[in-house]
Amino acid sequence: MGSLGRILRSGGNSSPAEARPQTSRAENLLQEFENSEKGWFWETTRDGMLSYISESVAKALGREAADLLDRPFTDLISTETEDGAATSERTLGFYLSSHVAFQDLIVRAKTKNEIWWSITGRPVHNELGHFFGFRGFASDLTKVRQSEVELDRLAKQDSLTGLANREMLRRALDDALLGAVRRKHRCGVFLLDLDRFKAVNDTLGHPAGDTLLRLVSLRLREVIGDKGQVGRLGGDEFEVVLPATSDKKELSDLAQGIIDSLSRPYTINGTAVSIGASVGIVTSDYDDRTSDDLMRDADLALYAAKAAGKGCFRFFAPEMHEAARQRQLMESDLRVALEKEQLWLAYQPCVDASSEAVTGFEALIRWNHPEHGSISPAEFIPLAEEIGLINEIGEWVMRTACATAATWPEHISVAVNLSPIQFKSHALPTIVRMVLADTRLDPERLELEITEGVFLSNDDHVHDMIGALKAIGVKLALDDFGTGYSSLSYLQRVPFDKIKVDRSFVTGATDPASRNAALIRAMVGLASDLKMQTTAEGVETQEELALVRELGCSLVQGYIFGKPMPPEEALELARKGAATLPEQAPQRELRIRIIRAALLHYQGRVLGARLRNISTGGALVECREPVEVGSNIQLDFAAGGLIDGEIRWTKGTQFGCQFREPFDLKLLQPAKPAKKASTVMTPTYLKANDRSDDDAADWPISGGSTK
Ligand code: C2E
Ligand code: MG
Ligand code: MG
Repeated sequence: MGSLGRILRSGGNSSPAEARPQTSRAENLLQEFENSEKGWFWETTRDGMLSYISESVAKALGREAADLLDRPFTDLISTETEDGAATSERTLGFYLSSHVAFQDLIVRAKTKNEIWWSITGRPVHNELGHFFGFRGFASDLTKVRQSEVELDRLAKQDSLTGLANREMLRRALDDALLGAVRRKHRCGVFLLDLDRFKAVNDTLGHPAGDTLLRLVSLRLREVIGDKGQVGRLGGDEFEVVLPATSDKKELSDLAQGIIDSLSRPYTINGTAVSIGASVGIVTSDYDDRTSDDLMRDADLALYAAKAAGKGCFRFFAPEMHEAARQRQLMESDLRVALEKEQLWLAYQPCVDASSEAVTGFEALIRWNHPEHGSISPAEFIPLAEEIGLINEIGEWVMRTACATAATWPEHISVAVNLSPIQFKSHALPTIVRMVLADTRLDPERLELEITEGVFLSNDDHVHDMIGALKAIGVKLALDDFGTGYSSLSYLQRVPFDKIKVDRSFVTGATDPASRNAALIRAMVGLASDLKMQTTAEGVETQEELALVRELGCSLVQGYIFGKPMPPEEALELARKGAATLPEQAPQRELRIRIIRAALLHYQGRVLGARLRNISTGGALVECREPVEVGSNIQLDFAAGGLIDGEIRWTKGTQFGCQFREPFDLKLLQPAKPAKKASTVMTPTYLKANDRSDDDAADWPISGGSTK
């Protein structure tokens, strides 16, 4: 059933099928074709009723071929088109009624599932030239159409996140600008960049990075809702087009909402991941700026947000163009700074914490700009990295520093900072070897400072590079320790000679509220377990010096022993061998806040007391019993026996006592339960509220406090 051989008739003699003789071979071939479901045949009467239709198409429509006969062919065709415009059904009807041949007419079947056909037909006439009806064939276009739709979707969408892609965003922005002009309002654009995304990608791998981008896109969509079009420009850059939002407050709130939402932690494969976001904002301004202009301004605003420390948003301001111009100028100036001998190295002494002998100098680059004066390396080193000059500058630094160090006494070393980009370069070991050979410096005297940033790249490379550098015999230091992103595990893997505790830990470590002292102590402990030295960076005051010594740092670098100085001064200091501490007001002693039960031997009696704070010279003690100024006392607080002292003042239940001999604060830690439990009795009045003071904390948790 259903082959052309069994032509289904309609309208008796009027069918053109009768006008045609058939051979069985042709029949078989046609049947083959129909069964292949690649195409089908159809025939209508002169009034457009189906007189034949292939079985295969009836099946696709979920009907019997017989059910379809004697009904208008146009009934099979949907009147709906995707865009709701002119319908193909109407077009087909037009051809059939006007007896005009047609080819490849694309129509959609009137079915629930999407079925598309391409139909070709021609009118049939009898030998007398009378119109008989139509006859033709059709092919299934469904798959082709679907892939076209898919291609169209792909052309508009970012395949990773499903957000709009660059092309689509551009169209959205063009439309928003047009709409804004027409409706006399303004539109807004956010340009967004994820902070620390690269670190996640590099440490957890690209699949994790992709997952993170998908999660970010979900959150972005959630925050923006129907206020605008969210899209991804590529990498970790996103854009939001806000066709009807230009109010500054509203834009600020929305941008802050995005930053807050994207900064909440993510869990990827069981690992908690934190990133941030920076946002540049621009609004159209009733002027004739194009979408390109807006995007360039948004980019400048984003740059400003990142320069302001990331994790924030900035509105575009016209001055940003000037800043960008300045940056460009600086860029071209930096390109010639080396040739023009505007770069030079300052040397900052590094001093042994106990002997105060100078052990080495750190070479720190300086740029004397002919117009702008001295420019900080914090400003131009990142620029040199960005514009690909860092390798050249880095090699110059190493060569100059080694040549200078070769003039110093032999026990004094030089430290050179390496950018992660230099560290990535395979040429680095060769350069180091060449420089050492040319300057005749003992490799042991060169120390290379790297930051945690280098661990964010390929593990094998890091491992090989460390091995190659160690094989040369140079020393390795981990700079700015504690400020990076990565875990501590690499400390165990990499044979550093030294870790440099970042200045941010040292500054404020003497503040009682700060936990820095405890952190420094932990770092020193870790380093000494791993046989590494520790340098405390940025030590400025006597108090900080006393504290870092107390905490066990082996080396000290900071303004207290000398600022970065010109090479001549460094040579002089290197020859002298010891740094001199600046004259200062009488040094204030380091005091440790402490709550500890003590026994007070006072005028032949033993009284319960408690220590409130202590320094090497004395202590603040609390005791309910009245005591007299000038009395000699002995204190027992489980720290190496009785401590002799004299009461210098009293106030209420507290008194200050001065020790006869300097007390070693190290005896206080660790704050284990009293070893001599038998000799230390906790006075009963202390038991109930022994740790109740909110300012009270045992060493070393609260660190030192100076009063
Ligand atoms: P860094 O390697 O951590 O260098 C220490 C920075 O702290 C130096 O800043 C130094 O002048 C400053 N510093 C040292 N002691 C004190 C102190 O007691 N108080 C204060 N407030 N600051 C102190 P500088 O010279 O501005 O260098 C900044 C950063 O620039 C360096 O940090 C280093 O990361 C980078 N840098 C400097 N020279 C080079 C270089 O030749 N190559 C590369 N790749 N980076 C360099
Ligand atoms: Mg350094
Ligand atoms: Mg440092």
